[in-house]
Amino acid sequence: MGPPGVGKGTHAAQLTADLDIPQISTGDMLRTHIRENTPLGEEARRFIEAGNLVPDELVVAMVADRLSQQDAQKGFILDGFPRTVAQAQALEDIAAVDAVLNLTASEEVILRRLSGRRICADCGKTYHVSRLTDPETCPACGGKLKQRKDDEPATIQHRLVVYHQQTQPLVDYYQQKGLLCPVLADSEIAEDYQLIRTALGLQA
Ligand code: AMP
Repeated sequence: MGPPGVGKGTHAAQLTADLDIPQISTGDMLRTHIRENTPLGEEARRFIEAGNLVPDELVVAMVADRLSQQDAQKGFILDGFPRTVAQAQALEDIAAVDAVLNLTASEEVILRRLSGRRICADCGKTYHVSRLTDPETCPACGGKLKQRKDDEPATIQHRLVVYHQQTQPLVDYYQQKGLLCPVLADSEIAEDYQLIRTALGLQA
């Protein structure tokens, strides 16, 4: 867990590659539903574009279904879920959690990361403009890179408020369960990732 732009997706993707367990990103899954115009995508779109959370019951059902799939039976990395205490409680009935990474960074770092974030309209991969040679083209599939609607400045501010109000209480929730692994993730990706590995007790 951690605020928008702190690097949850980036580090979850790296952990997926290193540990060979799937990254289950509710944000990515919801954006795929929107791209594919499914009924869930139709319902989720207005919440996402306004910077609000999608209702718990929709997200919990989506995650329960994903966690029942074969590739999640040997472990998984949840990215962006749970985001409310109600979601965390629902998760307890679905699967056991071994560790909860809590990534933090200053608001200045977060705003810099979010304002430079670009997403491929075709494959959904995410980049930062500072790491792209062509800021308009996806290096993975050649699709067009865009800014996420919810990364526009007014929506970013709202998402940070939503984070503090609805998701921050989970820090205490998981602290009390003895699962919380706090990591200050405000440096370069590789350095932050090493801190994450250490926090999880993985070899450097
Ligand atoms: P993310 O890609 O994690 O930044 O998520 C983008 C947006 O998807 C969020 O601002 C929410 O609108 C929605 N979303 C993602 N995960 C959840 C969740 N666990 N609960 C509710 N809404 C979510």
